Amino acid sequence: MTVRVRFAPSPTGSLHLGNALTAVANRSFADGRGGAAMLRIDDTDPTRTLEGGEEAILADLAWLGVSFDEGPMRQSERGALYAEAAATAVGSGGAERDVDGSVRLARDGTTLLRADGSATYQLASVADDLELGITHVIRGSDHRPNLELQQRIARAIGGELPEVLHHGLVLGPDGKKLSKRHGHSSIAELREEGFPARAVRAYLDELDLPEHDVHLDLARLRRLAIDAIAEMSDDDLAAAAEAPAEAVPVLRGARSLVEARGYARMVLEPEPVQLPTDARPTLLRFVELRALGPDRLSSDDSRAILRELKAVGGDLRSLRLALTGASTGPELSAVLSVLDRDDALARARRAIG
Ligand code: GLU
Repeated sequence: MTVRVRFAPSPTGSLHLGNALTAVANRSFADGRGGAAMLRIDDTDPTRTLEGGEEAILADLAWLGVSFDEGPMRQSERGALYAEAAATAVGSGGAERDVDGSVRLARDGTTLLRADGSATYQLASVADDLELGITHVIRGSDHRPNLELQQRIARAIGGELPEVLHHGLVLGPDGKKLSKRHGHSSIAELREEGFPARAVRAYLDELDLPEHDVHLDLARLRRLAIDAIAEMSDDDLAAAAEAPAEAVPVLRGARSLVEARGYARMVLEPEPVQLPTDARPTLLRFVELRALGPDRLSSDDSRAILRELKAVGGDLRSLRLALTGASTGPELSAVLSVLDRDDALARARRAIG
């Protein structure tokens, strides 16, 4: 038996972290067994279909590096299959057709087909899983309550539901349902917060297929972000920070890509600052030392200048402010190596007026 799984999001916009876990879990399950994974967009419910929602999901999946062997297929384009399934269920006595044309499961009354002929999620999902030859349904445990009903629908339309594996949900750090209020709840939010794609993917890979609900471990996610940035090539890091390759030394210590972009701005277009007169001695000494150096300093040269300044009791915080416009930021020696001589001198002189 060849394993066939599906990831079946509703097009409600950027993937919730728990849904992203489902996507990764399906992909890994198929990969581990030489199987295939398909992408199905569950868009039978117009109230859960957001304009641009499918595009947002496709962008999230691409960003996470999750690809599919088939799809995206859309339930909204498969109405004929569902009508046929409903007719089969009526024919077998497993379902009944109402006077208004809607079809309900016999005995419990669950709607399969609405009066307008459109299928409900319950029918569409089961009919698709059977028709697509899905061998394993892997989804969040919030769908556990659907299991028994879907097994009955499968039998009514003449099949058996695939094996179903429910994984634990990703909850907020406080153990409550992860929501926008927590931040970091969707892939779009994590991307905007500057988490590299590889860090988010690594976090989801680590969670694997949790049996029980898990609390989002932000400390772990942040650690993985630091690791992912350390592993990025210079070109990738520069591109992610929207900075030229020469700025990379200042970007290296950033803990997120948002921080890296902030560091890039500090060297590329700092806020101009005016420093009080007590900063003068340090900055004048810096100007003297820097004027003697080459156009670009090696990191050893940069560290030597900082050592020299410290030895005479120099005020390195003022130097940082003068060069970057900020009181905290990247390692100062990296700033010195990235700024060319003219730039460094101009900034120091401007800060003391
Ligand atoms: N469209 C459902 C969801 O987004 C998928 C349910 C399932 O996997 O069966 O939760």
